[in-house]
Amino acid sequence: MSTDCLFCKIIAGEIPATVIYEDTLLLVFRDINPQAPHHFLIVPKKHIATTLDLTAEDNELVGHVYQIAGKIARDSGFAADGFRVVNNCNDAGGQTVGHIHFHLLGGRNMTWPPG
Ligand code: C5P
Repeated sequence: MSTDCLFCKIIAGEIPATVIYEDTLLLVFRDINPQAPHHFLIVPKKHIATTLDLTAEDNELVGHVYQIAGKIARDSGFAADGFRVVNNCNDAGGQTVGHIHFHLLGGRNMTWPPG
């Protein structure tokens, strides 16, 4: 755990979040500022700052993230309509929290290109 990391504090239960899924590798909770009718954050429990900090050791973890994204989309009823998984990296990518996370967005038609 990184002592000064917001998402590490949520994972540790020190800051509240609406958790909808948890396993040994991941915590999934509702985004406090939702950008779609369904907006979840899929957060690895291991503190990894950004996509650039992933190593080959994390390959299974990232695969698991996408598998769980599909499971949550199916369980929440928006998988068949379609959904988006987004990972923002560093400032220009729109990353505001320095702990890797994957946005799972569904329940509306997405546009392209993203903002
Ligand atoms: O990709 P980015 O780093 O910008 O995403 C961070 C996300 O974390 C934001 O969508 C923000 O609303 C969310 N957040 C949250 N709970 C917090 C703080 C931030 O869901 N306590």
